[in-house]
Amino acid sequence: MPSTNELKIGAPQYRLLERLTNAVGVSGNEGAVRKIVLEEIEGYADEVKIDALGSVLATKKGTQRNRLKVMLAAHMDEVGFMITYDDSKGIFRFKVVGGIDERQLAGKPVWVGKDKIPGVIGAKPIHLTTASERKNTIPLKSLRIDVGEKNASKVKVGDWATFATEYQRLGPSIRAKALDDRLGVTNLIELLRNTPPNIDLLAAFTVQEEVGLRGARVAAFAFDPDLAIALDCTPAYDLPSWDGEENTRYNTRLDHGPALYVADRAALSDPRLLRHFVEMAEAQGIPHQIRQPGGGGTDAGSIHKQRAGIPSLSISVPGRYLHTAASIVRINDWKHTLNLLHTALSGLKPEIFKNDR
Ligand SMILES: [Zn+2]
Repeated sequence: MPSTNELKIGAPQYRLLERLTNAVGVSGNEGAVRKIVLEEIEGYADEVKIDALGSVLATKKGTQRNRLKVMLAAHMDEVGFMITYDDSKGIFRFKVVGGIDERQLAGKPVWVGKDKIPGVIGAKPIHLTTASERKNTIPLKSLRIDVGEKNASKVKVGDWATFATEYQRLGPSIRAKALDDRLGVTNLIELLRNTPPNIDLLAAFTVQEEVGLRGARVAAFAFDPDLAIALDCTPAYDLPSWDGEENTRYNTRLDHGPALYVADRAALSDPRLLRHFVEMAEAQGIPHQIRQPGGGGTDAGSIHKQRAGIPSLSISVPGRYLHTAASIVRINDWKHTLNLLHTALSGLKPEIFKNDR
């Protein structure tokens, strides 16, 4: 049975995701993303604030009686780099911001600073390397970002940088950088534009998630919600074969719908919320999957410990190759995630917290 009030994903939503993923917003430097968020939510919220750390806090009140205060959090920041030292002639040393595997860096194009100065994380070409050098990873301290001499004066120590990957639609998939978590930001904007009348929506577009869930912590204090849901992306380790055998070690899989969390390293989901979302998905025939417990964490990891405790849940779109130069998600997983959120929020009542855990 399809949902009666299904939210659509069409040209405007693709354009919004393209704008958001192409923007540079490394943790602590989310201004370019914040600007897009503020433009896109204008006129849809009753109140919009920017808090002291830079998160956007937007409130949209419902119209029915007995409304729960529901905080939805999506992080604006992405993993990336910070310029730390000027070696002269357009060559710069840098540090990693957030979780990036150093082995993947050599040879990658980057954008530096808010003007997206193009550069490359330089690597010695194969002609010049020895066989033994090629067996080892180049350590971060030996890597440099090269922007060329002409643009050298446009880059300063303290500038942020990120992978230079343009959004691209590939049939049923989207390839982009920072789908983690600009896809969550896109969904949160859509939910603010289509808020069910039975809840007060407290939308937190958070900063500094990738360096320790920091913005969400103070946003949850400010909002003081009845419950919270983190909208994020989670790695899918689902390639079809592993050592020549069928891969049965996946944690989440593309094309299997939104990933609902029971546990990750930072939080245990509220079982009443989790059950509500599973029941709503089953009632509406929306594909969904349980994310396998293990590493990682979302904004829910800091939100649930705020004040006297806040019942929390995380829901993620599965994506391959997160925190690398290019990640891949399926449009169908995006669509089912947005619709499960909208459907389950529409069915949320205060009585849910009287249920057994
Ligand atoms: Zn994330």
